[in-house]
Amino acid sequence: MSIFKKTEDKQHTAVVEDFRLQIASAHMPSGVRQIAEKELDMLSKTSPATAEYTIGLTYIDYLVSLPWNKKTPDNLDLERAERVMNERHYGLHEVKERILEHLAVKILVMNRKPRILVVDDEEIARRNLEHILIKEEYSVVTASGGAEAIKQLELSDFDIVLTDLKMEKISGIDILEKTRAKYPDTQVIMITAYASVDTAIEAIKRGAYHYIAKPFKLEEVRTTVKQALDKKLSTVSAKGSILCFAGPPGTGKTSLGRSIAEALGRKFARISLGGMKDEAEIRGHRRTYAGALPGRIIEEIRRADSANPVIMLDEVDKIGQDFKGDPESALLEVLDPEQNQSFIDHYLDVPFDLSNVMFIVTANIADNIQGPLRDRMEIIEFSGYTEDEKVNIALLHLVPKQIREQGLSDFPPKFTAETVSKIIQEYTREAGTRNLERQIATICRKIATEFVHHKETIRNIEITPAFVERYLGPRKYYFEVADEKNRVGVATGLVWTEAGGDIIFVEAARMKGNRELILTGSLGNVMRESAQAALSYIRSNASSFNISEDFFENHDIHVHVPAGAIPKDGPSAGATIAVSLISLLSGMPARRDVAITGEITLSGRILPVGGIKEKILAARRAGVKVVVLPMKNKVDTETLPEDAKKGLEILLADKIGEMVDKVLIK
Ligand code: ADP
Repeated sequence: MSIFKKTEDKQHTAVVEDFRLQIASAHMPSGVRQIAEKELDMLSKTSPATAEYTIGLTYIDYLVSLPWNKKTPDNLDLERAERVMNERHYGLHEVKERILEHLAVKILVMNRKPRILVVDDEEIARRNLEHILIKEEYSVVTASGGAEAIKQLELSDFDIVLTDLKMEKISGIDILEKTRAKYPDTQVIMITAYASVDTAIEAIKRGAYHYIAKPFKLEEVRTTVKQALDKKLSTVSAKGSILCFAGPPGTGKTSLGRSIAEALGRKFARISLGGMKDEAEIRGHRRTYAGALPGRIIEEIRRADSANPVIMLDEVDKIGQDFKGDPESALLEVLDPEQNQSFIDHYLDVPFDLSNVMFIVTANIADNIQGPLRDRMEIIEFSGYTEDEKVNIALLHLVPKQIREQGLSDFPPKFTAETVSKIIQEYTREAGTRNLERQIATICRKIATEFVHHKETIRNIEITPAFVERYLGPRKYYFEVADEKNRVGVATGLVWTEAGGDIIFVEAARMKGNRELILTGSLGNVMRESAQAALSYIRSNASSFNISEDFFENHDIHVHVPAGAIPKDGPSAGATIAVSLISLLSGMPARRDVAITGEITLSGRILPVGGIKEKILAARRAGVKVVVLPMKNKVDTETLPEDAKKGLEILLADKIGEMVDKVLIK
């Protein structure tokens, strides 16, 4: 044998031994450990020159690097959580309250003294167990036989039931069955004599957590009970606990998620699902080829080096439409507490327990999430901010943050409220604060550059509105409504999009043709149907609007909604389309500063629509003076904050005729 071959062999053995040690100290569950060891045994017989060797080694390396049993201790202090959220986030009272409630339930469940039922007909064993468990600070109830145990189970719930397997009349198996039927989350541990281990294994098959053989060792009782309790608590605390933050971009969803992680003392990771096209991105690739990778979930857990991080899954409502595989079932496997205890990533090919992860998903519109996934979520709505709220957020949070980030901490420029208002009105058009933050960042950067250029810094420089144009260039947005004239055939409407509320101008025109309704502007199916309904309603009620009955004869009608690159859908533009048509056909101009929203029926009734707060905010941003809403949306207007309605007249209407009276100028 050549000397090279010998050194190579030595190296090979050293690598294998090193991995053996790593496997031993990786705290894997026993099943996983066996698989890793088997894989390593196989590799020890494989030539290091082969591709299988590299693939196998990378795999084991990955397995040992996962935080199988590594968790950050939770900081379950509600007051601190509240403080962290209040310090970092302005307003959002309702949202914060819901989050605190959610955490409070978790804390209650986790901090309660665990209740254990000990069932044994042998008095000494019963007393011994009781003694050990009380010392561990558990609350213990004992039963001297099956009948008494059943009575206790009828009376109240236990976290753990420790029961002797062999008892007269009612056996341990009966108690197991009873417990599983009544309290599916309660974990049952069997106590058994060595001789009946086979029966104990049978009990595990029927759902017992584990067994302890008599005579039992103190340490074994302690750890088995502790582990069973962990399992019970993780299922309970995870139940129904997928928080879903829904709302337009820039309304603080991500940053609040970060604050929750920080308040709990957990690691934070974020995965964007928007546009994800392949199930493998969630669940990993099978390990059959070189370069196969685990999915993002497992990868983020590895990166966080903790089995209980807060993971934020962004844009669940926008998972790629051409998704390969079934996104819903992939997500359920990740999120559903019933399934995620043994989540199998295709690359790992062994289960990883995700039940300790706190998942928060985000969506722009919660209604877009459907089915079983939605049932398991607790949806918390974030809505757009009013101008006053934005000014406060900017002055308290965004400006200080940008001053820090742009290196201006030693010479912080001072922004006035008027300046921020000017930026909001003239340089942004959004529900949240993302663009606002960007504009503030631009100003801070430019000031920093000036300081460097002129080799001088100005202390206490005050950024007044007059500065804004100098730094941000000419005004980007105008009040689309106040600055324009009233016209015939053009009506102002309010819609609800993923980015929050928005204003639309529906234009209608009539020309010689063949009774055709032409619709343009990237309209979705529902909006097209609304247009059809509006036209049919007008045709059957023409006389009541002083429109000639045969307006459609030898004519085409064209309805257009500009800003055509943005797809629009939903029924709430129905009323706006109807009013623009009536304006066109009757020749009465429509007031541009009156905005309407509502679904229309064939009989001209106005049905209620969603997103009222977002729409009202959008109306104010655009300079609208009067908003006409469906009568049935009255409740929504009552819960609106005062500063959202400031300067707006809000009217209600039941029939399209009433809307026409308010919008068209006779
Ligand atoms: P989203 O995830 O909803 O798109 P982000 O959390 O990314 O929004 O928020 C965008 C920016 O606005 C962040 O810098 C965030 O800190 C800030 N922000 C949003 N809402 C608030 C608020 N209520 N208080 C303080 N800062 C906020």
